[in-house]
Amino acid sequence: MSNILSKISWFIKEEWKTYVFMLFLLLSIAFIALTPAWVLGYSIDTIVSGGLTKTTLTLLVIALVLLPLGRYLLSFMYNYLSNKTAQKLSYKLRQKYLSHLFDMDSKFYEQYEKGDLISRVTADLDAITQAATSLLEGIIFNVGIILFAIGVMSLTISWQLTLISVAIMPVGLTILNIIRYNKRKYIKRHREIYADMTEKVLESVEGQRAIRAYVQEENDLKKQYEAIDNDIESWRYIVKYENWFNPLFEVIYGISYILAFGFGIYFIINQQITLGNLITFISYVGLLFGPIISISTIFTQINNATISIDRYEEIMKETPEVHDEVFSKPIVKFNKLEFKNVTFKYPFDKVPVIKNISFEINKGETIGIVGPTGAGKSTLIRQLLREFNVTDGQVFIDDISIEEYKIEDIRNLVGYVPQAHMLFKRSVDENIMIGNPLANHEALDKAVKIADFEKDLLFLQNGMQTQVGEAGSTLSGGQKQRLSIARALIKDPEILILDDSLSAVDAKTEDTIIEHLKAFRKGKTNIIVAHRFSAVRDADQIYVLQAGKITQRGTHEMLIKTDGWYKNQYIEQMTMR
Ligand code: ADP
Repeated sequence: MSNILSKISWFIKEEWKTYVFMLFLLLSIAFIALTPAWVLGYSIDTIVSGGLTKTTLTLLVIALVLLPLGRYLLSFMYNYLSNKTAQKLSYKLRQKYLSHLFDMDSKFYEQYEKGDLISRVTADLDAITQAATSLLEGIIFNVGIILFAIGVMSLTISWQLTLISVAIMPVGLTILNIIRYNKRKYIKRHREIYADMTEKVLESVEGQRAIRAYVQEENDLKKQYEAIDNDIESWRYIVKYENWFNPLFEVIYGISYILAFGFGIYFIINQQITLGNLITFISYVGLLFGPIISISTIFTQINNATISIDRYEEIMKETPEVHDEVFSKPIVKFNKLEFKNVTFKYPFDKVPVIKNISFEINKGETIGIVGPTGAGKSTLIRQLLREFNVTDGQVFIDDISIEEYKIEDIRNLVGYVPQAHMLFKRSVDENIMIGNPLANHEALDKAVKIADFEKDLLFLQNGMQTQVGEAGSTLSGGQKQRLSIARALIKDPEILILDDSLSAVDAKTEDTIIEHLKAFRKGKTNIIVAHRFSAVRDADQIYVLQAGKITQRGTHEMLIKTDGWYKNQYIEQMTMR
């Protein structure tokens, strides 16, 4: 309980006024809830003693009518506020979580699955909000009612009778709560299985095209069913514990009633209490049932929420390895880029992908990087995006390590066109403007022109306003590539990286884009990773990467004259034309 309270104390501080008002409402509701039983007992004693007058009768009737009405109004206000604060809490927790996810680096995303991250922000956050909301209501309202009822029972009726009939309840509850506590491990397991199920659903939805293309619906559905079965199976253990609880508590409660009734009659015979007292007493015993069950349920919710809090906190405690320092330097332009003995190993791999790489790029140059698939070309140039820190060596920009600059500034310096395009379910122009939301029409037109995307617009139903389907499903492979190139170009970046971004365009379009880059990007730097040598033919320097090492470097003219991978591939590409 203190765990949850300490985790949301910032929210309680922010909303303390609402909480104080809700507290007042709850205490008023608790008070009203207990009054009718007292009024009933008082009425019976008045009738039995023959003291009932017209005025007392009218007052009693008015009280019995007004009390539920008052309770309804106060409950309405309380529920409204309670739901509102719960929504607010959930909103703020989600906001914190999502902004934290945006701060995370690539290592984090390699560590956690998407489905897991989603389930933490949905199921786990719901459990936390639910418990936090119930906490106030449960503890204040129910404990208030219990204490109030026991106070009235023991102080105004008989403390002996109260002790006899109520003492069994906390003993029974404690035993049952111990049983419930043991349920924790099953809940933890259930949360993990739920995350796994979310991941599977996500994968199937994302991969539905491939699944259909390979007629794998049945296989996929089988996997989904297995995940759902596991989910239900993990629930079964939890429900088993629950099933133990309620009937057992009813038994305890029944005993309490019998004790109250039996000893109550004995107390009346001994003239220690009146008949009205016993009726009030029995009603109060009845009133205790709801709150005691609620408190116990709230303990269960808190129990569940502690697991969720741990899962939420696990993510919130993660810190990105790639992060800014207070002394991080700003940068908007550069003159020289240098890779010096750079070695890089992916966080969960054993061997490095690129090894001891050294080269320089001067501002305004165009660099080509070629080599077999899997050689590490993409890994090499992605070091400029600051996704990971290098394992060994350094990348320098103007003789200062890249790690000393502000991450955002470095990313602003670079326009990166990845191999796999990420398009959003928005219009074409909105998709391009992601590269630079502040760009004007001229910049948009220029980017579209350089990327040779102009011709595609004629074929799109609504031109720039055409809605792109999820993951770009309404566009062809080549169109997606050109749109992605336009997105990178609209920022007019100091360094443009085309990471095998011309693979889906035909040779003529490739020529046009390369010519456009030469014409429109004078003084700016381009890094082109390509399979077709035509894309890098005019580069100032070409690097051949094989198995993570630079094996050849030079201009196209030099390389075709030197024996090696470049010359062999060139001959092969020429003969295939
Ligand atoms: P290229 O661009 O030359 O085709 P990549 O840089 O994409 O090569 O990949 C080089 C090697 O690194 C490959 O063996 C690939 O499997 C591995 N690799 C790529 N991305 C990751 C990653 N995120 N985690 C682990 N290994 C990776």
